[in-house]
Amino acid sequence: MQRRNFIRNSSLALAGLAFLSNKTLAQLLADPTWKIKMLTDTIGVFTEKGGTIVFMIGKEGLTVVDAQFPEQSQHLIDELKKRSQLPFELLINTHHHGDHTAGNISFKGLVKNVLAHENSKANQERVAKEKKNEDQQLYPNQTYADTWCQLFGKEEICMHYFGAAHTNGDSFVHFKKANIVHTGDLVFNRRHPFVDRSAGANIKSWIKVLDKAATTFNNKTIFVCGHAADGYDIVVTKDDIAAFSNYLSKTLIFVDAQIKAGKTKEEILKATEIPGAPEWKGDGIERPLTAAFEELSNG
Ligand SMILES: [Zn+2]
Ligand SMILES: [Zn+2]
Repeated sequence: MQRRNFIRNSSLALAGLAFLSNKTLAQLLADPTWKIKMLTDTIGVFTEKGGTIVFMIGKEGLTVVDAQFPEQSQHLIDELKKRSQLPFELLINTHHHGDHTAGNISFKGLVKNVLAHENSKANQERVAKEKKNEDQQLYPNQTYADTWCQLFGKEEICMHYFGAAHTNGDSFVHFKKANIVHTGDLVFNRRHPFVDRSAGANIKSWIKVLDKAATTFNNKTIFVCGHAADGYDIVVTKDDIAAFSNYLSKTLIFVDAQIKAGKTKEEILKATEIPGAPEWKGDGIERPLTAAFEELSNG
């Protein structure tokens, strides 16, 4: 509140308010840029820049799922060290994209193990070689293929791989006792997704992956997704996942009909909304449209 009064009274604000977005003002005033929301006594969500992070302050150690960028993961590490003296047991990556793994490097020498799906590790290594930034990576030292589970005190963490989707290496990370799932970028809440065909993404398979999630988890499961549109929560329900699956289906149906009607890729990319999924709006519609066009044209 003091800060609010400061804004209200300061000449800076009076002079500049009309020209500055809230975000710029917040940055000017050096507000903490990150947020933590606890979902249970021990499991929380960290958001700042990049894919959502989930962490668990266990009785024996700390577990972190995804790492955003180096600056952000350092913010998280500093905050978790204030809340617990216990060691960092495990860092999990839901998939290889930089907004989830670039921050791994902050855990170098700090965390015992780094774990991801085997394709996520391979993708991370391939992209880092291409970008010549291998020195800025901390790669997983553990991988799995289908399912991986381990007990951490009273909590059991399971990772599930159901096939190609947003990439070919995305995991659902299930905190079984708390019944919380980090979906990584397998779910975008009301926001057009990145579909990374260069890393084996496939929309048809993605829909099947979400079907498997619907039968693996239950109505009480709390889902934390990688990204949400402005004004939408990153904590979602089974219904939101069904809505995202419907959006992916409707994208394929729309693009297929356009191709059959003889439309070119450029004409298809002019669409501003996916018919049957109007809640997905804003920037980035060209990404799923392009991916659907390429997938339906080339398989
Ligand atoms: Zn992401
Ligand atoms: Zn991603």
